[in-house]
Amino acid sequence: MQYLSTRGQISPIPFSQAVMMGLAEDGGLLLPRTIPRIGTDTFASWQKLSYAELAFEVMSRFVDDIPVSDLKDIINRSYATFTAKEVTPVVHLGDLHILELFHGPTLAFKDIALQFLGNIFEYLLSRDQGVLNILGATSGDTGSAAIYGVRGKERINIFILHPHQRVSPVQEKQMTTVLDANVFNIAIRGSFDDGQAIVKKIFNDLEFKAKYRLGAINSINWARVLAQVVYYVRSCLHVSAHEKDSSVDFAIPTGNFGDIFAGYIAKKMLPPGTIRQLVLATNDNDILARFVTKGDYSQATVKITSSPSMDIQAASNFERYLYYLLDSDPARTRELMEEFGKNGKIDLSGHHEQIRRDFVATAVSEQEVRETIAAFYQEHEYILDPHTAVGVKAAQKFKTVGVPMVCLATAHPAKFGAVVEEAIGKLPDVPLALAGIMEKPSRCELMDAEKGKIQAFVAEKSATAFNNG
Ligand SMILES: *Cc1c(COP(=O)(O)O)cnc(C)c1O
Repeated sequence: MQYLSTRGQISPIPFSQAVMMGLAEDGGLLLPRTIPRIGTDTFASWQKLSYAELAFEVMSRFVDDIPVSDLKDIINRSYATFTAKEVTPVVHLGDLHILELFHGPTLAFKDIALQFLGNIFEYLLSRDQGVLNILGATSGDTGSAAIYGVRGKERINIFILHPHQRVSPVQEKQMTTVLDANVFNIAIRGSFDDGQAIVKKIFNDLEFKAKYRLGAINSINWARVLAQVVYYVRSCLHVSAHEKDSSVDFAIPTGNFGDIFAGYIAKKMLPPGTIRQLVLATNDNDILARFVTKGDYSQATVKITSSPSMDIQAASNFERYLYYLLDSDPARTRELMEEFGKNGKIDLSGHHEQIRRDFVATAVSEQEVRETIAAFYQEHEYILDPHTAVGVKAAQKFKTVGVPMVCLATAHPAKFGAVVEEAIGKLPDVPLALAGIMEKPSRCELMDAEKGKIQAFVAEKSATAFNNG
């Protein structure tokens, strides 16, 4: 399988290169040249596969430059770290199916992609004798999932900036209690935006970037999308086995459009009609809901909500969908993305019919999030985290009788205990992964939010770590 850029200005590259490139060198995003189609018989034959076996069947159709046994091994190791035997179990509650994606080491769905990405990086770097210094800024969740994805790996260092005392105490501990020698946490005196701005500036310093082999871990890496396609396929198999139904709907709490884009790929791959409807759910940061309902893709200021991982006003994976919406026209995609960069908005109302065939959408308010957590607990004694609650509320709105609805549960409620407590009057049980975390020893560097200081730190630590390893 070859990979192309949405902006059309790189020559086709194989999977391995697409993973290492991350963002395409022409500023676009990478996509497979074609989306493989799965026939009805093949699909039915997957019914009894384990998660890892199914992941291999799905992923191997997009990967042809890693030997079969190596790819199988990478997949097996990536999902062996999950505490649920089924990796992504489905729970049936009332007329909804809750797809639990939070059984990985950091209790959020990002583990599913980042455990895999970390192992792919390690494999490719060792094969090609390369090294990588991952640099990123986090507002909380992605940082810990990325750290857990690469902790202890040879040839990789990871530097994660977080705003000092502005992430939750649990989130901070999830990052700073990882004591492996290749993990460097930096608390900056400043905001998440300050951290993000520094990281951007360092990546724009091309000489520094090349010299220290800097790499990113944000959600634009194709390998992350690919890993997420798997659980859509698995849930369709699971639900159709239970309900003898050929069509399934999904509700997806959405921020950067990565998770729902994986659903869009799954919908195209699977036999027609297997996935009927993708419900896009946002919190008060409703840019994507406005896009689906009106074709209006225009940025507003970011609002802080109880589902912080979705407090986003420029969805980094959106360009991938835009490219398909524009009939795979890279010149037009580039033009519109440049327009968005300049004006913070683009008008896609002319494509309204197609958009509505691909998605339905709604925005969910803060009050509705709390009400949904409370009502769901009362009815089912099941605790939703605030992100999942956004999806469940949207699912209830779009649920059609006779069509199973799968709600993606993207985080464990214990990660967002304070909001849950407000809604139901008690804290969720603390899972093993978080037990005693506040008392564990931690390591973190507190620094001023200055590009030069961060750069000097990266330069010093990366050199030492690789010389020793
Ligand atoms: C990242 C995240 C989301 C949003 O997923 P996207 O792929 O960015 O749309 C939803 N819920 C949780 C808990 C997350 O961490």
